[in-house]
Amino acid sequence: MRRVFYFVSGAAALAACAPRSAPTPGRAPALVVLLTVDQLRSEYLTRFEPQFTGGLERLVEHGAWFPNAYHDHANSETAPGHATAWSGRYPSHNGIVSNERGAPDTSVRLLGSDGPGASPLRIRGQTFFDWVRARDPDARALSVSRKDRAAIMPIGRSRQAVYWFAPEGRFTTSTYYTSALPAWVRAFNARHLPERMAGRAWEPLLPDSAYAEPDSVPYEAGGRDFTFPHVFTNDSAAAARTLLEWPWMDDVTLEFALAGVEALGLGRGPGTDVLAVSLSSTDAIGHRFGPDSKEIHDQVLRVDRLLGAFIDSLYRLRDSTRIVIALTGDHGVAPIAELYAARTGTTIHHVSLRAPLGETRRALADRGVPAAAFRLEGALLWVDSAAFTAAHVPLDSVVSAFADAARAVPGVARVDLVAALATADTARDAIARRWVHALPPDLPIAAVVTLQPHSVWGRGIDAQHGSAWEYDLHVPVVLSGAPFRPGRYDDTVRVVDLAPTLAAGLGIPTRGAVDGHVLMQALRAAEPDSN
Ligand SMILES: [Zn+2]
Repeated sequence: MRRVFYFVSGAAALAACAPRSAPTPGRAPALVVLLTVDQLRSEYLTRFEPQFTGGLERLVEHGAWFPNAYHDHANSETAPGHATAWSGRYPSHNGIVSNERGAPDTSVRLLGSDGPGASPLRIRGQTFFDWVRARDPDARALSVSRKDRAAIMPIGRSRQAVYWFAPEGRFTTSTYYTSALPAWVRAFNARHLPERMAGRAWEPLLPDSAYAEPDSVPYEAGGRDFTFPHVFTNDSAAAARTLLEWPWMDDVTLEFALAGVEALGLGRGPGTDVLAVSLSSTDAIGHRFGPDSKEIHDQVLRVDRLLGAFIDSLYRLRDSTRIVIALTGDHGVAPIAELYAARTGTTIHHVSLRAPLGETRRALADRGVPAAAFRLEGALLWVDSAAFTAAHVPLDSVVSAFADAARAVPGVARVDLVAALATADTARDAIARRWVHALPPDLPIAAVVTLQPHSVWGRGIDAQHGSAWEYDLHVPVVLSGAPFRPGRYDDTVRVVDLAPTLAAGLGIPTRGAVDGHVLMQALRAAEPDSN
């Protein structure tokens, strides 16, 4: 039996989507798994694929795999990346401009933890899960991550089961979602899995000959503990607090997700439920050791094995023919700048704008403008125009003078005034386009700073992301399950295309304006005579 459905989304997406046949009614996917591996570079999947035996192998072999997928927004941090992937909308429309202006929310508190409050308060508009729920009001979601932002952003504002790892080493949620931890979460925490991992050693999974990367690279890990084996603390309380820097955080996250699927009866049908899982160890290890390290190689192999066991477990618990899995990364990463410079002969800089900022603020203080009215958060210059007006100081000329001073700092590629971005040639100027996509127009951001490729903020020697350059934006997109046509698709696509394509595969209309387009080539249901 065939059913015709329509997509309600951006005009272009609508035009691209003639009526298609949907999956057989009554056999709609029972569980949609939204997998985000934090800092998953696309090239990891091609580089390490010959050694995959688990979940990553299954996804790229049996799914629609887009190795040339890119985020297309600047400020490529975790919160904007997650919000973008699962809403099909850029930060300019989903409202999540940075980590700092992402999940933190002082109006809520965590349950049983002193960690900072967090909520989806700043998310604007709908996400994939909201579209599912608009069709099926009984649909439920469970979202799990080590990081609050990575658990919260994929689901949006719906008050679902959203859990993350508190600083004390237990899973929790905030009072935005509920007033008490359910029994299954308390029972999981009572198992004290993080504490039981104290004293372990991280050894490579495979023999040394399987790794092309050198192990002993003193630029890694700040020059301390940069060779295998890496030995985890013996102290169980310290283990709980620091597990998030180690590969085993992913093991615990996936165990927790499975416990939640069972406890909540997620995916039992007849409707469609959503399970969002974000794995964060790849990001922690990537920052510390960089994308060229033996450690990241081993970590990605571990993600592959873990996801294999996880998918096996899901298939045992539920009808595997009714499970759909989508995978992406929230951002990429650059090599450790010093290693990149040594390898390529490029000059790199560690950039600080403290001097021009301090000078501007001292001059402003003399004229009655408080320092808080002129704040640089990472690459974003936030201003309080009311404070300038009250002090009769012209904001535009101060911003312009600061921008000129910042442009003279070695390592700064460009400083864009946000007002000028509105008229930039975003077809030719990818950096301008990515900034336009990164900034909700109503936020009081006056200027944005772009460093030269491979130059980095601050003095630290680690691998960084956050820029508008392609190495921070290139991630995989994979859609796997009955609605999707397996294959490797080399087209260049955008991560905003993922959520609308997932929705199209499920026959679920998107709602509201969506930036992404449906990747029709990935849909199995396409009829040969329709466009
Ligand atoms: Zn990161």
